[in-house]
Amino acid sequence: MMDPGNQVVLIDTHCHLNDPSFANSLDDVLDRARRAGVVQFVVPAYDRASLSGTLELARRYPGVVLPAFGIHPWYLEGGVLDELRGYLDSEETVAVGEVGLDLAPGMAPVEVQVRAFVAQLDMAAERGLPVLVHCRKAHGRMLDILRDYRGKVTAVLHSFSGSAEVMERFLDLGCYVSFSGSVTRERAKKYHRCARLVPAERFLLETDAPSIATQTTVASRVEPSHTREVAVKVAELRGVSLEEVCRLSTQNACRLFGLERMEGER
Ligand SMILES: [Zn+2]
Repeated sequence: MMDPGNQVVLIDTHCHLNDPSFANSLDDVLDRARRAGVVQFVVPAYDRASLSGTLELARRYPGVVLPAFGIHPWYLEGGVLDELRGYLDSEETVAVGEVGLDLAPGMAPVEVQVRAFVAQLDMAAERGLPVLVHCRKAHGRMLDILRDYRGKVTAVLHSFSGSAEVMERFLDLGCYVSFSGSVTRERAKKYHRCARLVPAERFLLETDAPSIATQTTVASRVEPSHTREVAVKVAELRGVSLEEVCRLSTQNACRLFGLERMEGER
């Protein structure tokens, strides 16, 4: 049991409970998360196969698993964006994602990625949904594109990997910045600086489970309960209490995704 005097409410704003590695342990994973104070989960689809599985999860755990639908730049294939539209129109949808640009070597050609990303930004703009953005080695190009959508689409830079200076430029466009396990690592000075400098009303917390290791876990063992470890680190970096970081990040997530608060549910 948690110390009742130390109850916090957290939302993991980016976790892949739709990953096959969670399929057989989902109830346990959600239970461990709840005991750590993590009560809601934004689950982004990423490829064609994960679209239906993500919607099924959202219907199995209504109001708890909050689905986002999008095609990640690693998984672009012909015709898949047409299929995506139907999922975006389901009433449970809280965001478009995971979408973005990945300009690391070996990825799809940049023009192919940009075309798919812009198409999905348009879908978000039409529906008034925020966008969960993957951005690797593409911050300049990303800024250029999001500038055209300023005021039309609110983007979340998921597991933000840029410098504080680059973060400032995204914030100027109205973006939110989301911190994952990477900020918990002792040597991640660049991320520490971003967590200190981000405005109180523009940050979110996430795990990207099962993908991003924290200081205390290897990546394969990361699950949404580790949102709390991210929150503890961000609180330490900002010099505020854990409760304050939880309050702010949850408030930000509720505002961005249009959620009802869930404090009474635990
Ligand atoms: Zn992800």
